[in-house]
Amino acid sequence: TPLRVAIMGLGSYGTRVAKAMKDCKRAKLVGVISGTPSKIEAWQKEYNIPAKNCYNYENYHQIKDNPDIDAVYVITPNGLHKEHALGAAKAGKHVISEKPMATNAAEAKEMVDGCKAAGVKLLVGYRMHFEPKTQAVINMRKDGEFGKVLFFQGLSGFVIGDPSQWRLNYELSGGGAMMDIGIYSINGARYMIGEEPIWVTAQETKNNPDKFKEGVDETIQFQLGFPGGAVASCLSTYSMNNLDKFFLNGTKGFAEMQPSTGYGPIEGRTNKGPLTQPHVTHQTLQMDAMADIILDGKEPLVPVDGEEGLRDMVIIDAIYKAVKTGGKVSLI
Ligand code: NAD
Repeated sequence: TPLRVAIMGLGSYGTRVAKAMKDCKRAKLVGVISGTPSKIEAWQKEYNIPAKNCYNYENYHQIKDNPDIDAVYVITPNGLHKEHALGAAKAGKHVISEKPMATNAAEAKEMVDGCKAAGVKLLVGYRMHFEPKTQAVINMRKDGEFGKVLFFQGLSGFVIGDPSQWRLNYELSGGGAMMDIGIYSINGARYMIGEEPIWVTAQETKNNPDKFKEGVDETIQFQLGFPGGAVASCLSTYSMNNLDKFFLNGTKGFAEMQPSTGYGPIEGRTNKGPLTQPHVTHQTLQMDAMADIILDGKEPLVPVDGEEGLRDMVIIDAIYKAVKTGGKVSLI
């Protein structure tokens, strides 16, 4: 039997996930949670969703009485993930939350604890963890093909449009570019180097304070120090396009990927030559793999559980603290 999923939040990314799930072998879209009746109607038609599996934000707690839904995939604005994830968990459903899993580490911890207490699994939508070229580089690093890894560079950014969107509203976003796109460099530094950072330094540049209000970061450069001696140097921005690049360097070799986290295809090469693994829609791979994790307890190459998401939130908190204090923030 497949993992039967209800998507909460039928926005642009929810739509992308739903389309990708059409090709899944083990995960199936069977329900929706939305505040917009016209969207529910359109999704019912496109995905053959029965009326009994359709909910809104007022009545979705009743999903607990629905035995035909196994998991809720929360794809709403960041500031709502905690409430929505805990709501689904209390209804006894497994939870997949989009990234960033919350707006800070305290909220993320509440989600981890709440899902544990409810006896449900909590996963975070880290689609890159299932991407074949990314996995190939991680496996090369694990096999020692780059020697001792000492440096990672991550560049993550795009020019954000409409100033009225929730991504630029602190209440709903919890921050700016760092929450949305910089998190890819943080997470990438961790899975590429294969260690957890022990300190953070960070510097912010804000050229447009009208567009990027208090608490909403435009551009942040940050550095992470790792216990084995590696450093990561990263840039997160809402003001430049074509920034989607990872570079990993060790004593014996390197990997470079550009694009490194976009929807694909990912492109890259190492000291051994080009990365040639085939492109498969990331969200299709992710949802099938998450079905294996939830239904069979399968261990992924890189974790995607709540603790993994919490680690990124702890680092984001530390980056914001480092920006404010101008100092080095310890993570241990
Ligand atoms: P979006 O604005 O297109 O969709 C958000 C949806 O949430 C909308 O359908 C909106 O109606 C709904 N919503 C429910 N309550 C709301 C409220 N109170 N205020 C505003 N909207 C409300 O945004 P999106 O791009 O789909 O992003 C949603 C989430 O997915 C974010 O957390 C984002 O970081 C994440 N995301 C992840 C990826 C990825 O590659 N993993 C890509 C894009 C977005």
